[in-house]
Amino acid sequence: MRHYDCKNYINLDCEKGLCALCKAVVPISGQNSEACANFKAADKCGNCKNFSNPDNHGIGTCTGLEKENWSYSTMNACTCSGYEAR
Ligand code: SF4
Ligand code: SF4
Repeated sequence: MRHYDCKNYINLDCEKGLCALCKAVVPISGQNSEACANFKAADKCGNCKNFSNPDNHGIGTCTGLEKENWSYSTMNACTCSGYEAR
């Protein structure tokens, strides 16, 4: 798990973000990108109970909305009415 996948991560640019909890600037990937003990999974389709069968590109099936459809596991779900944390 990485800072990037954490609910406390605020994106700054394509390389780094800010931790809303400790206020540190943290990298998206590479060295020091591993999450800390305060990690809390961000609301993303991949963390939703209604997301299933992702392929090797992270594209899976959403069954949480009116009509079944495909979705990306990394898609931000903070505004989705069907989101249910796993
Ligand atoms: S809480 Fe920990 S894992 Fe989450 S963004 Fe802050 S430093 Fe990273
Ligand atoms: S219900 Fe929303 S958050 Fe859940 S998989 Fe479908 S689109 Fe994503």
